[in-house]
Amino acid sequence: MKILISAAEVAPFAKVGGLADVTSALPKSWQSMGHECLIVLPRYGNMEPTDVLFEQSLPPITVPMGSWNEYCTVQIGTLPNSNVKVALVESAEYYGRSGIYGYHEGFLDNDRRFIFLCRATFEVARALNFSPDVLHAHDYHTALTMPMLKILYASDPLFAQCAAVFTIHNMAYQGIFEPLRALELSGFAPAEFYPGSWFEHNGTLNALKSGIMFADKVTTVSPTYAREICWTPEGMGLQEALRSRANDLVGILNGIDSDVWSPSIDKNIHTTYDVSSIDRKELNKRALLRDLGLSPVERERSIPLVGMVSRLTEQKGIALLAGALEPILDAGLMRLVVLGSGEQRFEAYLEELAHRYPGKAFFVKGYNPPFSHLVQAGSDFYIMPSKFEPCGLTQLYAMAYGAVPIVRAIGGLADSVQQYDPITFTGAGFIFTDFSSQGFHGAISNALRIYRVEPHWSKVRLNCLQADHDIDRCARQYLEVFSSIT
Ligand code: ADP
Repeated sequence: MKILISAAEVAPFAKVGGLADVTSALPKSWQSMGHECLIVLPRYGNMEPTDVLFEQSLPPITVPMGSWNEYCTVQIGTLPNSNVKVALVESAEYYGRSGIYGYHEGFLDNDRRFIFLCRATFEVARALNFSPDVLHAHDYHTALTMPMLKILYASDPLFAQCAAVFTIHNMAYQGIFEPLRALELSGFAPAEFYPGSWFEHNGTLNALKSGIMFADKVTTVSPTYAREICWTPEGMGLQEALRSRANDLVGILNGIDSDVWSPSIDKNIHTTYDVSSIDRKELNKRALLRDLGLSPVERERSIPLVGMVSRLTEQKGIALLAGALEPILDAGLMRLVVLGSGEQRFEAYLEELAHRYPGKAFFVKGYNPPFSHLVQAGSDFYIMPSKFEPCGLTQLYAMAYGAVPIVRAIGGLADSVQQYDPITFTGAGFIFTDFSSQGFHGAISNALRIYRVEPHWSKVRLNCLQADHDIDRCARQYLEVFSSIT
């Protein structure tokens, strides 16, 4: 099968969150199963792809926008450790600046930047004579490729056999555009937009809704989130549109790329380990505590270390930390390390927390992929009290690294973390349901009770390390969806 992937983020080249991890892991897996993938993504100003990876440039290609033509150059390379082809779309005007989306409000021309990416996806495929069986778009940024395939490229023989698959990674970001401008830039007739049309939502052009409505199949990143977005406010206003596609909506739980996230081969951590040498995880904990500035004596103390790696947004439940964690920090029963960046109010709270609990609470502000691996390897527990969570990847990484997850059981967290049962020794984490500090506090307190208490401590960590969340399982489920429409 030939699969054309269009995305705003692809790891390791451009990453803000889990979207990037999945748009690189899936094609690698498909390619290893014998399929041919081509990924199209922008070359953002702050990317530094090495010459080795991007050695071929295409002659400038024409990208139709509205009734006029624009141009881009394209660099061709591969994803690391694979032969998956990646086409980086270069345009100084759209992407020659620092940042992917623009903090916090987004760049004012994001509509135009991503419409350009959508059109360029088709033009790159044309330039490379790549005739896809499936066009796979991700989130609002490339959602408009779905109507473009059905309306603008329907009569192009290169795309004659091409099915349209749209994957939702997060309903919270919808691409709400001024209709006439967005229609014109995309090349659609103004008559396409009217109340109730597939483009329209609350009088605006909603890119996410357009992707949902025009795709042949819609997927999202966990079965529970697929239900939540149809029937609860997690649909963020698009419940009706989603329900109208219920027969074509599939929830597929994300998986992890074990070339990147495996403690037995990870070069970012202090000491590698696996299921048979989990005791060596302790060396990573000490290395992490040393990096955080603790003295050798302090590092030796038997206090559980709780980790978190996250965008600091409302979604991630940072607001629950104060009520849930501070009583436990007061009692000296845990240490906390948070790696993250995001909303100023949350950064300020975590800075202040670290100040109030020296030696107990640590906040590492910023975006630091290598350090995120050490946090996973060095933590005993991992927290994710999300308000909503389409899938979540960091709890999967935590399990792979033997850091016992404590999560709110919603979305993909409910699908991936089962409560540990001390009678049957099953389950690989601790869960709570209410979005409240009390609920979260209860789950952490329960979890801390089994810290180094045998046989539970060994059993729960074994269950974590043995949980199978490999990307290949996920990749095969996508292929089943693709096969049903090609
Ligand atoms: P989301 O996509 O909502 O941000 P996920 O859990 O699905 O949440 O994925 C988050 C991804 O981003 C993970 O790969 C995580 O390690 C990474 N990440 C988040 N914050 C940071 C940070 N401050 N430094 C490094 N990596 C981070």
